Amino acid sequence: MSCSYADGLSPYENKGVLGQEERYDTAETLRLKCGLLADWIQGARHVVVHTGAGISTAAGIPDFRGTNGVWTLEQKGLKPSMNISFDEAIPTKTHMAMKKLIESKKVKFVISQNIDGLHLRSGIQRQYLAELHGNMFTEQCDKCGRQFIRNFATKSVGKKSLDTVCRSEQIGGRPCRGRMHDTILDWEHNLPDSDLTLSDLHSSVADLSICLGTTLQIIPSGNLPLYTKKYGGRLVICNLQPTKHDKKADLIINGNVDEIIITVMKKLGLEIPEYESSMDPTRNSDTTAKEMDWTIPTSRIKEMNVLYKKVCKPMRRKRKTFMYERERTDTTKRETKARKQAFTVKQEIKTEDNNLAATGGMYKAEDDRVVPEGNPVKTEENTVDVETCRYSVEDVTTVEHSTNMEMNQTV
Ligand SMILES: [Zn+2]
Repeated sequence: MSCSYADGLSPYENKGVLGQEERYDTAETLRLKCGLLADWIQGARHVVVHTGAGISTAAGIPDFRGTNGVWTLEQKGLKPSMNISFDEAIPTKTHMAMKKLIESKKVKFVISQNIDGLHLRSGIQRQYLAELHGNMFTEQCDKCGRQFIRNFATKSVGKKSLDTVCRSEQIGGRPCRGRMHDTILDWEHNLPDSDLTLSDLHSSVADLSICLGTTLQIIPSGNLPLYTKKYGGRLVICNLQPTKHDKKADLIINGNVDEIIITVMKKLGLEIPEYESSMDPTRNSDTTAKEMDWTIPTSRIKEMNVLYKKVCKPMRRKRKTFMYERERTDTTKRETKARKQAFTVKQEIKTEDNNLAATGGMYKAEDDRVVPEGNPVKTEENTVDVETCRYSVEDVTTVEHSTNMEMNQTV
């Protein structure tokens, strides 16, 4: 039960903004916005999708901050009535569409805050998915760090020991004999390194980030889509409630996520596959099969680092140069004064020049730029901004919501 997951977490006061009013675009507006989103996907070079609990409500799993969300109801002393077990739930249209979009190379990476394992169960491959807050259907070795897929959801949350031994020996690895634990983060835990690094790199490289069913209040996950904006890409938010970053979005679609995705897929001419248990690795009875290894390959991180350097580093350099140029114009008062004087002189010369030109004479004004010595333009050498990030909700006092929920883009 989703509630048992919530109950298993330690008490935490700051759950963010809860139960905000839902908004629905009209059918016509929704159609136009979905058409625009499909065009943007079609024209993008690197699309990343960020998913939250809102994409799993159609599977019967309650969200957290929606009008009937776990935390919203908890505040009223209530619990969600509609609830099924993680083992019973199956991937939604949106989960299956993500698998198709990855396979057809329209989407390069999915970053999920969801722990329900529905992305994994849709049949998506590990190298295309980051699970920032863990997964009920995976377990991790405390010694070698490898992750493996389970046949049923873990009973514990908060990275507790599962009293089982590492399967590395059975799945083509050296004997490890480490102990396994669940991968579900509690509030005070750090995010998984490889998942976070890949998410950071993909979000930076992306020229289109699409957020589905998340109010973007949890950090650092909720801030990752902003990396796309930082490097000049577009941000699209699809959610029923306002989100923390609506003001920064290029397009906001207020509607049911499944409905949005079905319309977009139709426009792209792609069929959403049906869920099949034969494609669901959690239904694989052979727990020693190679595909049960759910560890992110280090080669993927290396590849993404190379791409990041190629795509983002030149942009960083350009921005640094710009910042330097701007600083250079007002480094010291003396320089400013000298500049003003030079400007006045130049103006005088220009006036004279014009007078001369008017009378047929010629004159060339001297360049008056002041170039400080010993301060070369610096270039950024650090490739990744990743720090060890804790899972928390950003201070709600800083949360601002746009009152203008209209689409920021003309359709
Ligand atoms: Zn191990």
